[in-house]
Amino acid sequence: MSHELRQPLNAITGYSELMRMGVRGPVTQQQLDDLERIRASSTHLTTLIGDILEFARIEAGRLSYSPTDVPLGATLAEVTTFIAPQLEAKRLSYDFQRCDSALTIHADRDRFVQAVLNLLTNATKYTESGGSITLSCALVGTAQNTVAVRVADTGIGIPKEKLLHIFDPFVQAHRSLNRPTEGVGLGLAIARDIARNMGGDLTVQSEEGVGSTFVLTLPRGGSES
Ligand code: ADP
Repeated sequence: MSHELRQPLNAITGYSELMRMGVRGPVTQQQLDDLERIRASSTHLTTLIGDILEFARIEAGRLSYSPTDVPLGATLAEVTTFIAPQLEAKRLSYDFQRCDSALTIHADRDRFVQAVLNLLTNATKYTESGGSITLSCALVGTAQNTVAVRVADTGIGIPKEKLLHIFDPFVQAHRSLNRPTEGVGLGLAIARDIARNMGGDLTVQSEEGVGSTFVLTLPRGGSES
């Protein structure tokens, strides 16, 4: 399925790039502007298709997990480098409260990175310029065998009545036509499925106009029997 969906998109991107480069003849500034719009929309569509395919794989139980003990601090530091350009572009302040360097989680590393990245991407997307985002971690639970990774923002928040459904696939709390860069409402569904498939969970607390805090819990590493 992936190939069938991506192939026509690659053709659209490829041919419009040829035109943009002038290979098919001279192009006017107006045509260049239109070609840029085609490029931006194709890139966006590629991301959306990626999300839908990923979700379909999860739903079909076809996503494989290879859990190991993953060093938490180093991995979160790496995720931070992925999100840095978006933070900078929106002039958001970012506070990464480093965790104990010896702390590990028992998880599939790549899936964990994907879940945290989905949360951080949302935090940057739904926080106005000048706001702030905090990434932190803590040991929780009576036996201290669960790790909580928190992504908190001072963004637009989520209306109370939408909070219950925010993790359902294709649910968007702030849908509006003038937001061409929006996703399809799968980022949170994917992140929670990933967390649950690794023995953890994803929860949220939010207040409209104040901000949101997403908490991703996962089993602590090194405690497997
Ligand atoms: P998408 O961002 O692609 O719409 P998600 O599943 O990632 O889909 O999020 C679902 C909805 O939850 C978003 O459309 C948005 O309304 C809301 N949301 C997610 N994260 C945040 C956040 N940090 N602050 C405010 N609203 C959020």
